[in-house]
Amino acid sequence: MTSELSTADQAAITSGSDFWHTSAVESAGLPAVTVTDGPHGVRMQASGGDLLAGVPATCFPPAVASASTWDPSLLRRMGEALGDECRAQDVAVLLGPGVNIKRSPLGGRNFEYFSEDPILTGVLATEWVRGLQSKGVGASLKHFAVNSQETDRMRVSADVDERTLREIYLRAFHRVVTQAQPWTVMCAYNKINGVYASEHHWLLTEVLRDEWGFEGLVVSDWGAVVDRVKAVAAGLDLTMPGPDAEGDAALVGAVEAGQLDPALLRVSAERVRKLVEKAGQRPAGGYDAAAHHALAREIAGRAIVLLKNEGGLLPLADSGVSIAVLGEFARTPRYQGGGSSQITPTQLDDALTQIQSSTSAGVTFAPGYPVEGTEADEALLAEAVTAARASDVAVVFVGSVHETEGADRDSLDLPASQLALIERVAAANPRTIVVLSNGAVIATKPWDETVPALVEGWLLGQAGGSAIADVLFGRVNPSGRLAETIPLKLADHPSYLDFPGENSHVRYGEGIHVGYRGFDARSQEVAYPFGFGLSYTTFSYGAPSAVATATGIEVRIPVTNTGGRSGREVVQAYVSLPGSSVRRAPRELKAFASAEIEAGATVEVVLTIDRADLAYWETRLGRWVVEGGAYQVSIGASSRDIRAEVSVDVTADDARVPLTVESSVGEWFADPRGAELLGAAFAAAAAEAAGDADSPMAAMAADPAMMMMLGSLPLSRMAAFPGSPLHAEQLDNLVKEANS
Ligand code: BGC
Repeated sequence: MTSELSTADQAAITSGSDFWHTSAVESAGLPAVTVTDGPHGVRMQASGGDLLAGVPATCFPPAVASASTWDPSLLRRMGEALGDECRAQDVAVLLGPGVNIKRSPLGGRNFEYFSEDPILTGVLATEWVRGLQSKGVGASLKHFAVNSQETDRMRVSADVDERTLREIYLRAFHRVVTQAQPWTVMCAYNKINGVYASEHHWLLTEVLRDEWGFEGLVVSDWGAVVDRVKAVAAGLDLTMPGPDAEGDAALVGAVEAGQLDPALLRVSAERVRKLVEKAGQRPAGGYDAAAHHALAREIAGRAIVLLKNEGGLLPLADSGVSIAVLGEFARTPRYQGGGSSQITPTQLDDALTQIQSSTSAGVTFAPGYPVEGTEADEALLAEAVTAARASDVAVVFVGSVHETEGADRDSLDLPASQLALIERVAAANPRTIVVLSNGAVIATKPWDETVPALVEGWLLGQAGGSAIADVLFGRVNPSGRLAETIPLKLADHPSYLDFPGENSHVRYGEGIHVGYRGFDARSQEVAYPFGFGLSYTTFSYGAPSAVATATGIEVRIPVTNTGGRSGREVVQAYVSLPGSSVRRAPRELKAFASAEIEAGATVEVVLTIDRADLAYWETRLGRWVVEGGAYQVSIGASSRDIRAEVSVDVTADDARVPLTVESSVGEWFADPRGAELLGAAFAAAAAEAAGDADSPMAAMAADPAMMMMLGSLPLSRMAAFPGSPLHAEQLDNLVKEANS
């Protein structure tokens, strides 16, 4: 069809017509379609002027919370519900999910991203996309790629080595693209190793399309395109927002001047056409707002992470226990972050009202700190202390104040006003429970030692208030798990010295050791580890069994609910390979599964590890390689609560790195064929030198330190030494024989 479009029309439909619509081409019968944010609700702009004011829609828990459920089936249901809401508002593409890795706890958009781990991120996002697209609505997997900070986000170059890029920052994108084929991928604002994502041919074409087989359309982040011609040449199809008459003209000019292959523009226009046609097939629809609110509540309840519960203070009885509810956030909930993902909710539950309706006992409220300002307010504190003293328990609501797209945070600490509230209330009432509302990690030390119970309530979306009450009163037995490490302090974090960079460059200096990988590699203590979360019941793990299959490793482990109430356990499988030829993190999450288990019952949990997820990126071969050997599978309730270990032999990929004249003596000897050939060459030289006491060869062979030193010598350099056992003329033959 678009082959009939003029070059000018092709240019026009590869940029939007306004903020939220593609361009129509009436002569070709091609309508415009609507795209909108995303990712935890449908933010359809309500008024012309205000970009952020949306038509009411369900505000589901942002990714920081939905990831803490570790429950792919819930993400799928969320995707389906979002699809229904998109249909109701005639939206063709919802701009999400965001699968960037949480590299630093200061990341301003961490609330929109899932985890510091690529497998957890990829598995959850895949289900979200499947759910949404099952409704005939397209996803936009974003922000491709390495968009892990807000500071200088439109220019900064994320400088990252290829192994880290592949194993950490691209891995979740790869999974979602290959397993769910999102209709669109959104390129990031930033540069990657000096090249804008929007102009990155390697990223947008060689990796995304040629290697991964992406069939959809690449859309720019809003305003990410600097040069339309370079962008189209790199593989970017749709520039948003529009219109962009200047860019359209530049494209036409470049095609006419022979500077841009016309086929590239034609293909991009064709992809826009396909998207529009595909979107046209979705039926209109409506949705049940009450049912979606209930789903938002279910997800939020499952996302809450119980971090501490000394003496079984929680759950609270629904009668006979008076409660002081303290902190403004109980009345004015913090339930989402700022920026493009901000939703106008269909309704909003606050924890105070929900607590009041959950108990027949008295509930007193005091705000404790001012909504604005971070300095402690003595009058508000005194009122809260009085309420805490007069009640059986105190529940203190605190959290982050500003979290928004466009800015990173500068500290992990709670504001002084809130820290003062915790301190005073804990001193006034030993039965104090703290509930956190935050989109990214908050430092909990040392104040959490002064309270017996701590509930991580994230930003939970519009039903967060009722979900918190569900957990506080035990209607929901908490089963959420941390999808990111809570460090003791910011300076401990692997990213600390290299975040957020300077002069428009940020060095990903910690390499693959992101998040828990880095803490574990340095045996560092943390406040609460990755994967951690308590329950109102307890679980014990039996003996695991594991088998290597053609597609990976299958682990089975019996898990028993040893407590007094039914609950859900999230079982995690971490893998390491002792003796690996490359540096690896001590434990890497490779699979997880959960089970609802009745009190006293035992369930066999099955964990499936994909063989592909055992691979590391072999830089010398430029591809993924599964090393052979005995993989250690550690099965646990968190990354630092390993309950059982099992070793599994895995066969190696056929992945021999060819030997060259630049390979070192050590590398030659590490290779069976190389060792044989070089050994023979050395033996021949030694035989020749035998009896010659002045021969350097004889001296070397007699000195172990010398032999060690020899190991690092590239063959070509060794041959150049006077008296070397190898001669330059031999080398070509050796290499040929070694690789034949
Ligand atoms: C954000 C995207 C968003 C887009 C459209 C950008 O500022 O980075 O995530 O989808 O705006 O609102």
